[in-house]
Amino acid sequence: MLGTLFERINVPYHIFERATELRSLGAAMTLGANILPVFEQLGLLEEIEKVSLPCPSLDFYDANVQKLGSITLMGKEGTGYENLLFPRPQLYELLRKQVPPSKITLNKKVLAIEDIGDRVAIRCADGTTYEGDILIGADGAYSAVRQSLYKQMDDKNILPKGDLESLAIGYVSMVGVATPPNPEKYPQLKDKVSHFSQVLGDSMRSWTVVSVPNNQICWGLGIQLTDAQAQDQQFRNSEWGPEANETMIQDFQDMPTPWGGNMGEIIRATPKDLISKVFLEEKIFKTWYHGRVVLIGDACHKMLPGAGLGAVNAMHDAVVLANCIYNITNLGDKGIKAAFKEFYSQRYDYSYDQFKNSSAMSRTMFGQTWTERLLRKMILNYLSNWVQQQNFAKTLSYRPQIAWLPLAEDRGTIRVLPQTGKRGVIEK
Ligand SMILES: Cc1cc2nc3c(=O)[nH]c(=O)nc-3n(C[C@H](O)[C@H](O)[C@H](O)COP(=O)(O)OP(=O)(O)OC[C@H]3O[C@@H](n4cnc5c(N)ncnc54)[C@H](O)[C@@H]3O)c2cc1C
Repeated sequence: MLGTLFERINVPYHIFERATELRSLGAAMTLGANILPVFEQLGLLEEIEKVSLPCPSLDFYDANVQKLGSITLMGKEGTGYENLLFPRPQLYELLRKQVPPSKITLNKKVLAIEDIGDRVAIRCADGTTYEGDILIGADGAYSAVRQSLYKQMDDKNILPKGDLESLAIGYVSMVGVATPPNPEKYPQLKDKVSHFSQVLGDSMRSWTVVSVPNNQICWGLGIQLTDAQAQDQQFRNSEWGPEANETMIQDFQDMPTPWGGNMGEIIRATPKDLISKVFLEEKIFKTWYHGRVVLIGDACHKMLPGAGLGAVNAMHDAVVLANCIYNITNLGDKGIKAAFKEFYSQRYDYSYDQFKNSSAMSRTMFGQTWTERLLRKMILNYLSNWVQQQNFAKTLSYRPQIAWLPLAEDRGTIRVLPQTGKRGVIEK
């Protein structure tokens, strides 16, 4: 997303990616009114709508696939945008097309960063180094840029101690996108809306099936970890890599789905190299920038996926940071520091709220401890729809947009927060 924005404002940039090939991984993803105005500004809204279905509600089932209840999401009338549900690889493909291949170098694993006076440098695993005016660490939950920056700051005693603590791992998850050979078996695939069906099983297990266009099914398996299991995983790197884990698949293959059949049939309809296993962890870091280095996305705020806000917040960072960089008038230390400070002041409090919201919503969606089961029962049975809609309205009222393009029109009924920061629309 940041590459897409830099292309439009002619900011020279280069992306260094450790993967040896670009592979579109992941499963179901939702984007709603808090980021779709940016896609509209970029002229990409129709493209994302083409590969999506609107998702009106989330449905919950017990281990015997008996329905427990539903959460109704806030739709177009309230927000002006559908809640779009699509396979994550499709967003990946769309954004990748916006960036010329010559601006991405693969097989460049960043190991460390160095402050070299009025420039900043990265050192990669193959021994090469590169330098620039600004370094943006968009390298995920176990960001090497963050770790290297924090080490330097800690050596100087200027890093808050909490930033050195590890991420809290809550779940292990496996996801994929299936193309079943017998789509007629699942009538849900014929509907013009997406069915999101979440099963809360026993032994801390949960599984999900979600209908998306083209007769595809996004699926997910989740195991909630105990504190001791989480400690054990603490030093493992969280990856989207396709690390097929037969033990986990076998553990879930006989589980029934609310649409009929079992999970094994759906998992077997997924190419093995497109199945990813990821740890789901959470932490928000206090330090997002120092000197000529700034962090965005999971590198500075890793959210649990229950509220579908991780990538949305990563894209909010990209939009606000690009707005601030657009306004830089000199590349001296002071100019850069002022831009990063402005970025942080516009983003930290909102992402903190959304981090908390993601934590609570994830407990409702997949939590299996008795308190979490009780909480879910209360929400599904006793919390009024009005209260739930108020919560959604609060999250969806925050919609930072691109400051150098005309703003997308507000078409919903809920209140939208005003845009902050300096605006400067570019000449066509
Ligand atoms: C099961 C699941 C479902 C989700 N659903 C949603 C959803 O519906 N909506 C939503 O908004 N979010 C969702 N998310 C969250 C979302 O996927 C992440 O928040 C988002 O991908 C973060 O983007 P990022 O660019 O910050 O990091 P990443 O996507 O992790 O990208 C980091 C990149 O940096 C590269 N990299 C890492 N280390 C190095 C290095 N040392 N050198 C060079 N390159 C490096 C990686 O290979 C990777 O390409 C979900 C997450 C999960 C696990």
